[in-house]
Amino acid sequence: MNTYRNDALIGGTWRSAPATVDVENPATEVSIGTAAACDEAMAHAAVAAARKAARDWGLMPPSERAALLDALVQELRHRRDDLVSVTVAEVGVSVVNARAWHVDLAIDLIASAAGNARTYRFEEAVGNSLLIRKPVGVVSCITPWNYPLYQLAAKVGPALAAGCTVVLKPAELTPLSAYLFAEATVAAGLPEGVFNLVPGSGKVVGATLVAHPDVDLVSFTGSTMVGRQVGAAASANLKRVCLELGGKSSSLVCADADLAEAVRASVDSAMLNSGQTCSAWTRLLVPADLYEDALVIAGDHARSLVLGDPRSEDTDLGPLISAKQRADVVTVIEGAIARGARVVAGGPERPGALGHFVSPTILADLDPSDPASQSEIFGPVLVVHPYATESEAIDIANGTPYGLSGAVWSGSADRALAIARLLDTGQVDLNGAAFNPEAPFGGWKDSGLGRELGVAGLEEYTELTSVQR
Ligand code: NAD
Repeated sequence: MNTYRNDALIGGTWRSAPATVDVENPATEVSIGTAAACDEAMAHAAVAAARKAARDWGLMPPSERAALLDALVQELRHRRDDLVSVTVAEVGVSVVNARAWHVDLAIDLIASAAGNARTYRFEEAVGNSLLIRKPVGVVSCITPWNYPLYQLAAKVGPALAAGCTVVLKPAELTPLSAYLFAEATVAAGLPEGVFNLVPGSGKVVGATLVAHPDVDLVSFTGSTMVGRQVGAAASANLKRVCLELGGKSSSLVCADADLAEAVRASVDSAMLNSGQTCSAWTRLLVPADLYEDALVIAGDHARSLVLGDPRSEDTDLGPLISAKQRADVVTVIEGAIARGARVVAGGPERPGALGHFVSPTILADLDPSDPASQSEIFGPVLVVHPYATESEAIDIANGTPYGLSGAVWSGSADRALAIARLLDTGQVDLNGAAFNPEAPFGGWKDSGLGRELGVAGLEEYTELTSVQR
């Protein structure tokens, strides 16, 4: 596969951009390719192409759109090995996690969107009304670098299934998997202009796609700070927005839970993708009399995780995405230590000479109001807190600006569910239950607006017309 690209897919044609940006492998700090740095004119051309294709695609029977999405799934499966290796190279994620969480899950999301297009009732009678769900139109999808292929699949699959046309701007740091996806859309026979790819900067291409008067909806995943800017810019012409933003989620362990299982699973969640996971459980809440036991288990487990070459099947954690991300995470760890944090495992020291690595780090003895327990770190850092009562634990869990995910561990399923009902968050996993790609995913509070995945994810891309008869 060619990783040295300077082009964008606009209206079914690959067009050269005026400039390129380098793509770095964060494990080796070596350049592995380039991507187009598109300009405003290319973003405008992509929106025009998407608009031109919108009417026919929106009027196509959903079953026919589903058949084209099935073909896209096949094309992505043909490219699976390339998708895995490019994801390992551009994100630095371990190959085991790249396969499961980045590539296979992304392909499953496109398959799920095809299935939902087939079964969803786009029309429904309510009394003397016929409710018609129409595609919202042209959608800008703007994605982050942490799960590049998954993030784009979670947007593009349901948008296309609903009958929308798409302009995608991937993150500057991880554009290469998006090129492979775009090639798959062409090979699958998607009509020209239905899917457009315009790599480039957030300030130029991203901002143009958000403010563009001919874009009907912006689906953005990224930081809360940029999400606010996107929401404000889109509101100027009352464009719909779906914002998937940051998180600071808690794993709440009850006294009757299997402590070792709960603590180890919480460490794994906090460290997944080197901690660069918006829904990671980055705060572990344990009963006060089990606090020291929990710290021993957490420390031992964190130290057992293998940090190293992401291409190795034995590696658990690769590097962080960039030198800047590493520096930001180290600053947070050092600040927490300066405020009295106990370092149970890991710490700010660089574990090797090369690559943006941070050791899996467990911090204790911080107040839940400490910045390390309040703000999203986006690195392999878990903060552990003791609690006196379950009611206090629920207050700690709800006491951040975010509300994206969370976990409850208890020997009683009823008790776990009762606590889950009190958590102000978009998702809660009880006793390590599996991720469900059909369940709505999204955040409360500063974690965002709207939902992705499943039927709720498809509905984000529709608009209602009520016809009275
Ligand atoms: P970011 O906000 O810096 O960038 C995200 C995307 O927005 C990039 O493509 C970027 O180029 C673009 N962008 C930047 N400025 C823009 C502007 N003014 N207008 C339009 N687009 C602009 O985020 P990031 O650093 O790439 O990703 C990490 C963040 O993403 C974390 O905060 C993480 O929690 C969040 N995230 C959230 C979810 C979720 O589903 N809730 C999932 C993954 C990541």
